[in-house]
Amino acid sequence: MEIVKTENLTFEYIRRDEEDNVEGITTAVDNVSLSVEPGQFIAILGHNGSGKSTLAKHLNAILYPTEGTVWIDGNDTKDDSKLWTIRETAGMVFQNPDNQIIGQVVEEDVGFGPENMGVPTKEIWERVEESLKVVGMYEYRKSSPNRLSGGQKQRVSIAGVLAMHPKCIVLDEPTAMLDPVGRREVINAVRGLNDVEKITIILITHYMDEIVNADKVFVMDRGHIEMEGTPREIFSQVERLKELRLDVPQVTELAYILRQRGLPIPLGILTIDELTEALKKCR
Ligand code: ADP
Ligand code: MG
Repeated sequence: MEIVKTENLTFEYIRRDEEDNVEGITTAVDNVSLSVEPGQFIAILGHNGSGKSTLAKHLNAILYPTEGTVWIDGNDTKDDSKLWTIRETAGMVFQNPDNQIIGQVVEEDVGFGPENMGVPTKEIWERVEESLKVVGMYEYRKSSPNRLSGGQKQRVSIAGVLAMHPKCIVLDEPTAMLDPVGRREVINAVRGLNDVEKITIILITHYMDEIVNADKVFVMDRGHIEMEGTPREIFSQVERLKELRLDVPQVTELAYILRQRGLPIPLGILTIDELTEALKKCR
């Protein structure tokens, strides 16, 4: 069974004036149908305002469809009796780590989720330890979150979600506020969750270089899914991506320009090694 499935999902934000008359409607997600299999690493790309966050909020029952249906591990998000099951199945990590950390001490913060779920105390500590180790933050367990870098805080947020033992984690631009070092730390931690822990990952980003290892990429524009495919399939379409106001990874762009200048380089180069190999064959 799919871990995440949406069928014809449409969501409208409705603006009203003081008299409660409808002033305007924004269709933020427009007829989106997608399926995610357990264990997949999915990336969702899109320019600002393309509907990524609105879609993400449906996967955690923060928002409900205006039309269509969302199932998380088979549970319809509109079914109130399944709300906590859904939130435990699909954890969310947001952009700003400062809004997600509430504890005074790292290990206490990570324990909040399982504590709220009613997990027995002994097991909470086991989960906290295990989660902090997975994201490489165990040695900071006694630290105050205020003293951590952005990348470290974001990894603590991820540990907090992980401690709830979700099957799926949705990360909404988790690196947008981080410096390059922090970005790499977080992306490596996310890859580990998928590779080692086999957790389904849905990573929303507009950094193309974060998604080269994804199993599948969806590109959103104006609420629609505009493109869908493997990273290589997506990055083969440089012009289309530019139309959608997205950048391609530097190495992909360089390969594309060299190809335009007449060098026999294949489309969809994703890594420096691939470009090096292709260039060797040009001689
Ligand atoms: P993204 O995450 O891709 O930047 P969003 O899902 O945040 O896109 O936004 C999609 C569209 O919905 C945009 O046009 C945005 O202005 C609008 N929107 C987002 N949040 C709200 C809101 N709370 N009220 C009204 N419109 C909103
Ligand atoms: Mg967003």
